[in-house]
Amino acid sequence: MKLGAFMQRAIEEYYAGADPFGKQGDFITAPEISQMFGEMIGIWITDLWMQMGKPEINIIEFGPGRGTLMSDILRVISKSINVRTYLIENSQNLIETQKAALSAYDINWVNGLNDIENKNPSIIIGNEFLDALPIEQLMRTDKGWQMRMVEEGGYKWGDAEEELKTFLPPKTESNVVYEVSPERINLIKNCQTFLNRSNGAGLFIDYGYTKSHHGDTLQAVKNHEYVDVFKNAGQADITSHVDFDALARIIDLPKQINNQGLFLKNLGIEHRAGVLSQKKDVSADLNRLISAKEMGDLFKVLCFYKGENIKLAGF
Ligand code: SAH
Repeated sequence: MKLGAFMQRAIEEYYAGADPFGKQGDFITAPEISQMFGEMIGIWITDLWMQMGKPEINIIEFGPGRGTLMSDILRVISKSINVRTYLIENSQNLIETQKAALSAYDINWVNGLNDIENKNPSIIIGNEFLDALPIEQLMRTDKGWQMRMVEEGGYKWGDAEEELKTFLPPKTESNVVYEVSPERINLIKNCQTFLNRSNGAGLFIDYGYTKSHHGDTLQAVKNHEYVDVFKNAGQADITSHVDFDALARIIDLPKQINNQGLFLKNLGIEHRAGVLSQKKDVSADLNRLISAKEMGDLFKVLCFYKGENIKLAGF
């Protein structure tokens, strides 16, 4: 089986099961760390909406998890912005969780962008969504380009499919692992096509790198610890680092990228923390989100947009 097919299955099975988020679960994401994260995205959306002339907008989220990010965003924007909200989620279990978290709002669950009318300007977001999409691993050896195939509890290398090589960076070395993700590329291309008709922006936040390079970043996490990718299929969260350079190469729209730490600071997260700290201590949460040693540097924010005279906040 191709590595990507193995990942697809394992990830679907994993998210269909028990709630993996939070301190009791397997991992914790930025919106689950603090409400400040979603509030800053809400402010970012408000700024863009004002620049677009305060239209009715669509907000579309891929992989909303527990619905926490959208709940924090809507708390910030729903009083001023006329918004239609669309969520795209694979896991039926998580859809139920999202329904409960967002019961105060009018939300549409859809299967994909094709189910959404794009006459309104649209803002498409995804936090830690791209890292959950499947990848393939390639290596050039004396047998030519090989791709990683998964067998019972392990893997082997086989001849690489021609098409996969088109996703490689322009310059490559031999005998090292490269990661490519046709799924991520397709997703970003679809967003771009959608935005070309609707106007608006895509905002994707994830861990990864901004200059394509080699390296095996496939990882599985269970109970906040790394475990064997192949022995825990369906039971652990399988992800890989996002090659933002590969995404940038196929985006024709104006685009910008920043570290999560700088992005959040530019939007004023420290001021928000100051206000919140009058009621509770949020310094550890703030540090986790913005410090270079924590999520601040590793996590990147990619935005691409279609519209006249837009100057993005946060970059
Ligand atoms: N954005 C949330 C959750 C991140 S985890 C947060 O930041 O907390 C990844 C999410 O993407 C989960 O909700 C998972 O079920 C969903 N997901 C994974 N692959 C998907 C796919 N192909 N289509 C739609 N949702 C998917």
